Amino acid sequence: MKRTDIFVRDGYRCVYCGGVFEPDELSVDHVQPKMRGGDGSGGNVVTACRGCNTAKGGQRLAHYLAATPEARRNFFALARHVWPRHLRAVAEELARQGVVDRPADFVEGVQPPRSAETIANTVRPEHTPHADDPSAA
Ligand SMILES: [Zn+2]
Repeated sequence: MKRTDIFVRDGYRCVYCGGVFEPDELSVDHVQPKMRGGDGSGGNVVTACRGCNTAKGGQRLAHYLAATPEARRNFFALARHVWPRHLRAVAEELARQGVVDRPADFVEGVQPPRSAETIANTVRPEHTPHADDPSAA
């Protein structure tokens, strides 16, 4: 995805501070870093102003969001084009750091519908005593 297309999609708004900027003050930030296998497609990139990108530096996104509550709020409110699996990975990393309690709350509304198979695997089968189970007698 081209830089300018990303800026237009995001309304020239930085996902970390929520401010609107001129294109030359904006940069493209990868949610899943390129060195970790992230690509440049629309579901992995967000618009960030130079100030926020500098503040984030080389930190992992979850570390930056853990240390910056305002950026955390803005990111989960504004980064609605990011793939749910990336949002979930970031939210779960924040949960592991004890920053958030319920990571699912942060990806509400962007989670794909659960398939019948997923639900079936989640529901515990009821205990059906065996005929030769002495406790069933
Ligand atoms: Zn910013």
